[in-house]
Amino acid sequence: MLVLLHADSTEEQAAAVEAAITELGYSPMRVPGRNRTAICITGNKTAVDAGKLRHLPGVVDCVRVTKPYKLVSREIHPEDTIVQVGDIQIGGSKPVFIAGPCSVETEDLAIQVATAVKDAGADLFRAGAYKPRTSPYDFQGFGREALKTLAKVREETGLGIVTEVTETDAVELVAEVADIIQVGTRNMQNFALLKALATTDRPILLKRGMSASLEEWLMAAEYLIAGGNPNVILCERGIRTFSKHARNTLDLNVVPLVRTLSHLPIVVDPSHGVGDRARVRPLSRAALACGAHGLLVEAHTHPNESFTDAQQTIDMPTLKGILSDATLLSDLEPL
Ligand code: PEP
Ligand code: MN
Repeated sequence: MLVLLHADSTEEQAAAVEAAITELGYSPMRVPGRNRTAICITGNKTAVDAGKLRHLPGVVDCVRVTKPYKLVSREIHPEDTIVQVGDIQIGGSKPVFIAGPCSVETEDLAIQVATAVKDAGADLFRAGAYKPRTSPYDFQGFGREALKTLAKVREETGLGIVTEVTETDAVELVAEVADIIQVGTRNMQNFALLKALATTDRPILLKRGMSASLEEWLMAAEYLIAGGNPNVILCERGIRTFSKHARNTLDLNVVPLVRTLSHLPIVVDPSHGVGDRARVRPLSRAALACGAHGLLVEAHTHPNESFTDAQQTIDMPTLKGILSDATLLSDLEPL
């Protein structure tokens, strides 16, 4: 249930509504908006009886939320959420470009690649310090050392840093360096990790689980917002299907749907979605054309020498090509 307040309602009226909700045994969550204030009721197992709230001073209406996810839903929050990272906005009309190697490699290479992606026009640098790998024998990332390298990259290039956290115990450490913390596909439903991330002040880039339905993905985002972190960016990165001609199947269907169902920004990762560098640029065009708020791409100055995911890592001319495609696509009528 959503309790809508008059545009000119007072703080005392909002506080009284929250107290009444608490009195009923539920949890209130304030959702401020440009044109209205709303208070979302969470923690109810059955439908809330609006009778005790509807007539409180300042209340305009009590609206049932039809979806299982509430704080993520556009019903609760009609305006687009814009996640601000330094002077970069994610979720606005200008697409954002997040690029870098799959893993943090040597310090020299990290700085070299970051400088190159910045020159190509990328907004944020992404590289993994902790790598979740299918095989325990594969390179797992340089961990703490790599975090120090990422701090150096920011110092040298001024680019904001996106990097993944794979376990709850590392959240604080990663938050010291990351401007955005990535949750990978394998951890989308790691609820202990999501609860820990809900208490950080860093925005979270939440990748879709490789077998997750749209609803499961949005419910994972709900954990973050319900736990206190409203700065969530969704990232479609492909799902498992019967198809063998790609590493995953990039599910661009979700982009316009997420934008209808939710106010959260959505970016697309074509690199993991297809697993083949030759198809990253065409899929990047498609993602932007269907309304993605940005792209996350694996890019390197020497793609073949990447420690991980070399086959899907693009070179700098391709990254520049994607950015010039984006300029042309910006003339499209907004969806
Ligand atoms: C990655 O971003 O390098 C990665 C491991 O991605 P995903 O979690 O989508 O597989
Ligand atoms: Mn990768």
